Order: sequence, then C-alpha cells, then structure tokens
Amino acid sequence: MNEPHTFDVIIVGGGPAGATAAHDLARQGRSVLLLDRAGRVKPCGGAIPPRLIKDFEIPDHLLVAKIRCARMVSPTDRQVDIPIDGGFVGMVDRDVFDEWLRERAAQAGAVRRIGTFDKLTRDADGLSVVHFTARASQTGAATGHSSARARCVIGADGARSEVARQAVPGAERTSYVFAYHEIVGKPQNPPPGYDGTRCDVVYNGTYSPDFYGWVFPHGDTLSVGTGSADKGFSLRGATAGLRRAAGLQDAPTLRREGAPIPMKPLPRWDNGRDVVLAGDAAGVVAPASGEGIYYAMACGRMVGESVQEFLRTGQASALATARKRFLKVHGKVFWVLGIMQRFWYSSDKRRERFVAICRDRDVQQLTFEAYMNKELVRARPMAHVRIFFKDMAHLLGLARV
Ligand SMILES: Cc1cc2nc3c(=O)[nH]c(=O)nc-3n(C[C@H](O)[C@H](O)[C@H](O)COP(=O)(O)OP(=O)(O)OC[C@H]3O[C@@H](n4cnc5c(N)ncnc54)[C@H](O)[C@@H]3O)c2cc1C
Repeated sequence: MNEPHTFDVIIVGGGPAGATAAHDLARQGRSVLLLDRAGRVKPCGGAIPPRLIKDFEIPDHLLVAKIRCARMVSPTDRQVDIPIDGGFVGMVDRDVFDEWLRERAAQAGAVRRIGTFDKLTRDADGLSVVHFTARASQTGAATGHSSARARCVIGADGARSEVARQAVPGAERTSYVFAYHEIVGKPQNPPPGYDGTRCDVVYNGTYSPDFYGWVFPHGDTLSVGTGSADKGFSLRGATAGLRRAAGLQDAPTLRREGAPIPMKPLPRWDNGRDVVLAGDAAGVVAPASGEGIYYAMACGRMVGESVQEFLRTGQASALATARKRFLKVHGKVFWVLGIMQRFWYSSDKRRERFVAICRDRDVQQLTFEAYMNKELVRARPMAHVRIFFKDMAHLLGLARV
C-alpha cells in the first residue's frame, strides 16, 4: 500500500476561511491540501463589505448586485433608509464566490481534493493523519477512502466543525442562531417599491424573537430569510410572512436552506500541538448582524500567519496567537454587537426604539463606517459622545420614538 502523502498543511473546508488560508499559505511556498466536500451551496445572504473586497482582492464580476441603501423596518412598519454614501455593499452568490476562492488557492499551488473529512489519527512519528471519504466532483458520490498526513491541520469546516469536535477541547461550548432563507427568483413584474440596490432589514418579533429578518436582492434572485436561537420558533413560517410583506409570495422559490450561525468565538482554537480552527469553526461571526464572510476570511488569514510561524519555528504556542490577534482587532466590535443584540433584540418595544435610533445621522455614519471599514472610528470623538447621550436617552425611555 502506498504511504499517504505528507503536506505542510491540510485544510479541511474550502469556504471563505479555508480557501483564504490555503491561498495565503500556498502563495508563501507551503505544500497545502485543500479538502472540501462537494455539492452543497452554503446558505448565506451573501452581503460583503468594501473592506473585504479591497483586502482580499475580489473582482467586480463576482458581485451580482451593489447595495446603495439599507432599509431598517420596525415592528410598527416604520422605515428608516440609511444611504451608503460614496460606496456600496457587494452581494455574492456563494456557489460562484466560494468556488472562485478555491480555484484562486489552487492557482497559487494548493492541491484540491473533493471529499468529506472523517477523522484525525496520529502516525507513529507524531504527524497528524487526515482520513476522508473521497467524492466525485459532479455527483458527490463516495469513490473510496483516502488519507493524507500533515505537519499542521486547519479546521475550516464551518459551524459545528467536525475537526473541532474531534481535536479541540471546549469546542461544544458555543451558542448558535439558526438561520434559514429562501432563494427566490426576481418576479418579472417586481412589487411596488422594489429596489434592487436596497437591502431590507426587518426588526419584528413576528419574524424573529431574537434576531432579524432580511430581504437581500441578488440581481436575478433574492435571499429572504430570518434567524433565531429559539428552537421552537418557525423560521419557515416567519420567512413566508416576510415574503408576503415584501410582495414576493408568488415569486418562484429556487432553494430553501438553513444553517447554524455561531454567536461567540470558541474559548480556544487550537489543540496545543498541530490543529487550529478558522472561520465559523472558530466561532467568528459578528453578533447582532450575523456577518461572517469577512470575519472568516480575516480569521483564515491570521490563522495562516500563525501556521506559517509554527512551521518555521516548531513552536506549538504560535498557533494560539491567531485567536489573540483576532480578538485584539475585532473583539471590541464583537463585544459591543453582543450587548446590542441582547438588549435591542429582546422585545418589540426595544426594536421600535432601535430603529428610531437609526434615524440619527451620527449613528448611521458611525455604524456604516464600522461595517464598511471594520474599524471603530476614533477620528470623531464628539460623535461618539453625542451617540452615547442619545443612546442613554433611548435606554432610559427619555427620547421620543
Ligand atoms: C442563512 C445565512 C445567511 C447568512 N448571511 C450572511 C451575509 O449576508 N453576510 C455575511 O457576511 N455572512 C452571512 N452568513 C454567515 C456566513 O455564511 C458564514 O459566517 C461564512 O460562510 C463562514 O465561512 P467559513 O469558511 O468559516 O465556513 P463555511 O462557509 O461554512 O465553509 C465551510 C466549508 O467546509 C466544508 N465542509 C464542512 N464539513 C466538511 C467535512 N466534513 N469535510 C469536508 N469539507 C467540509 C463545506 O463544504 C464548506 O465549503 C450567513 C449565514 C447563514 C446560515
């Protein structure tokens, strides 16, 4: 029997996190195996900020729509339009986007394999062995069992990662919102008020008791969906309601799909030896918004850097630096968004106030700068002070809705 091939790094999962790590490491001359199972499009609204487009050099042709306005809708149907001044939010279709990222990694030198990760074992010399069921690219049918060895393994296999479950202690300790959406075809005669450059974000307990509902245009299709951590809540029923409210009840349904969104970074991302997690597998999705594509790619890049350091020095402690560096850059935003979600999404009364706050120009500008550029803006201290007092007034019920 042939000895399994040994790679510097095996990456399990070729979504935004895994494909980014694979691209970066292969480009730096590492031998990389990128393993991804075939056939399932990641359920996702597909909204990406300009910072992602810039940092990860995403070509324009992958953007199926450019969003110039976000409409916040309150429980009493008040609408606040937030224009995206001088920029746009990009919309991607994940089947095309993810495949493009994987192909870019392959062009940088990563070896692609289609298959489902089964288990991790260890060889007598201490190296990790990744066992997987190889699959046909067209049909996804199993074609046999295979394995490969690696000096380091990155688990980028999404929420409820199997790599994390097998290798990283404490991986089960995280919370999820379950998100569901329907991809519908854009009607030939769009409903009144339809705007293919506007995203609607609906804050209403009828559509989600603890998250939000959305209508995101994608060129010829739309993503209409919602999320909730409440397992008893009917996401399908709520999505049917969102479709009715948007006048899309008769639009053709092309796909129905859902997936969990992790709401908290895992307490540790590595096994202290040679396995490290990235993206949803590590729990890096922004609370309140559920935004995960940018964070998955930023995380994939930082994990790639830590792995590079580990391979260079042999120091397993290098793997733990990815989590530290990620939280140093994004931890504050996650913390603020976590508080926001817990407070503002807890009742319709608060949702009503939250949407009212979004009418404020300072809030709009700072929120959007933070979303678009992924930085808490330090340059305008007085705006922060004004927002602080306005928030306090709303929290205490002193401001009119
Ligand atoms: C309904 C919904 C809507 C969303 N909308 C948005 C949005 O509009 N904007 C946004 O930024 N984020 C959104 N998100 C979050 C975003 O989709 C994720 O955070 C992001 O995809 C995480 O990327 P990832 O690479 O870590 O994981 P994934 O994208 O989940 O990729 C994991 C990869 O691993 C592969 N894999 C899994 N298990 C195995 C296995 N055993 N063997 C081999 N391969 C395996 C999968 O095939 C997949 O390619 C949404 C999520 C959901 C569920």
